[in-house]
Amino acid sequence: MTTQTTAPAATDTGAAPSRVRPSRAGKPNGQWKVDGTTPLNRNEEVKQEGPPLAVRERIETIYAHQGFDSIADDDLHGRFRWWGLYTQRKQGIDGGRTATLEPHELEDRYFMLRVRSDGQALTPAALRVLGGISTDFARGSADITDRQNIQYHWVEIEDVPEIWRRLESVGLETTTACGDSPRGFLGSPVAGIAADEIIDPTPVLLRIKQRFLGDPDLADLPRKFKTAVTGHPSLDVVHEINDISLVGVVHPELGPGYDLWVGGALSTTPRLGERLGAFVTAEQAPDVWHGVIRIFRDYGYRRLRNKARLKFLLADWGTEKFRDVLETEYLGYRLPDGPPPAPATRPGDHVGVHEQKDGRFYVGAAPVVGRVGGGTLTGLADLIERVGADSARLTAHQKIVVLGVPADRVDELVAGLEPLGLTARPSLFRRSTIACTGVEFCKLAIVDTKDTAAGVIAELEQRLGGLTDRLERPIELNVNGCPNSCARIQTADIGLKGQIITVDGEQMPGFQVHLGGGLVGEGRDAGGLGRTVRGLKVPADEVADYVERLVRRYEADRDGDETFAQW
Ligand code: SF4
Repeated sequence: MTTQTTAPAATDTGAAPSRVRPSRAGKPNGQWKVDGTTPLNRNEEVKQEGPPLAVRERIETIYAHQGFDSIADDDLHGRFRWWGLYTQRKQGIDGGRTATLEPHELEDRYFMLRVRSDGQALTPAALRVLGGISTDFARGSADITDRQNIQYHWVEIEDVPEIWRRLESVGLETTTACGDSPRGFLGSPVAGIAADEIIDPTPVLLRIKQRFLGDPDLADLPRKFKTAVTGHPSLDVVHEINDISLVGVVHPELGPGYDLWVGGALSTTPRLGERLGAFVTAEQAPDVWHGVIRIFRDYGYRRLRNKARLKFLLADWGTEKFRDVLETEYLGYRLPDGPPPAPATRPGDHVGVHEQKDGRFYVGAAPVVGRVGGGTLTGLADLIERVGADSARLTAHQKIVVLGVPADRVDELVAGLEPLGLTARPSLFRRSTIACTGVEFCKLAIVDTKDTAAGVIAELEQRLGGLTDRLERPIELNVNGCPNSCARIQTADIGLKGQIITVDGEQMPGFQVHLGGGLVGEGRDAGGLGRTVRGLKVPADEVADYVERLVRRYEADRDGDETFAQW
């Protein structure tokens, strides 16, 4: 019942250019350094009327005691985000009604709570705390997001102070996990342990976090600001789609350091980040990060929310001007030119068993579309201790990597993951499918994602088990519940964008198909942003049929080791 079922021709799958267009001159854009700080919309007014981070005190002293109905509207729908809190979608309202209901009619009295991990290693104690919060306060829910966060649902305002107390006892936090602020940092999951690492980004991430996280001067940005830092040659932090990325390279004279990228972001107007051509040492990195985020704060566009990401400023300025402003107005010194990162030679999800530089092993494991839950997190803490491993990190691919596994305990660890719902030997589609929150909890969603994707994985494992053994690389399937692209529609081999579709006159949940995307950091020849195949829409209950047909055709038609993006 798809309106088009054929795979695109080879020329159709090439990279699309950036879809961000320069803004028109003439109107004030709300740039603080150019137009002044007078707020030009309600979001900007709310941020200026009360510092967003200050809402924590009201949560602890008023709202947690007096309950949901005591929460002021500007806090509930505005400032709560700065502490990782969003109201979740009311249960039982299907995606077809998302656009027809008022926001308050979609809203439940429970919260989604996002915990940032910032690429740090989660000790067994931290995993136990994360698991305990899930069990005690979130009805067992816990998802690994594609930004290395843990996301809970069903949280009640009364429990938030105790959740913060537990998180902070193990060095975790929800500070600016959402809101117009520096969101959770992506860090290489194998930082400091991989044998082939170019540079260990741990000190850079820690310094940035210690110096700037929770800084009120950085808590009123035009919109969100995403950061990624890696020193691993698999380019494992999807650096092309962050507002700032520092990517490990070796300068021919200065040695290991970072290549600076800015202005990447997806959503409905995707744009890949661009290199400024500048080399940054580990010592300079926190100041360079601080310079770029202040450029965004001071020059970013605030008039229209849908034009407020850094990518729009970069589109207008270009990389040369951006670098010049960074160096002259914010750093006070010139950065040397530097080399680009080499293309990744393997996927950055780190799934499977890999030797560390100290002779121990790290083991990457896949849940199904990031779903873990409290039992899995607590069980993983026990398993890590039982085999004498160190810790675990989350990945940008909704996976988890166990670190520091002794060589003679690897088999025991791998076997112990299975009963926890994790596997170090996932099928091709379990490995390469990610899904956003979707209609189950997200107020913006139109279509179910997690359960749909889990069903598709199970179907494809049955139908394509033998065939996928002949494919050298995973084929990435990213399932999104609306056009916002939280699960990276445009950078997947097959990206699905949730919408209500009409088939034979009947409306039903389905997906617009987007084909041929890919990031260099996913261990492949990048397809860039890929492209939407106009008219190619698939009902939600026919996704497995569609993907099966597509993969069979690719496997039969491809030329040698031609990748999906090249096909
Ligand atoms: Fe919600 Fe849409 Fe983001 Fe999915 S892509 S989490 S449905 S806003």
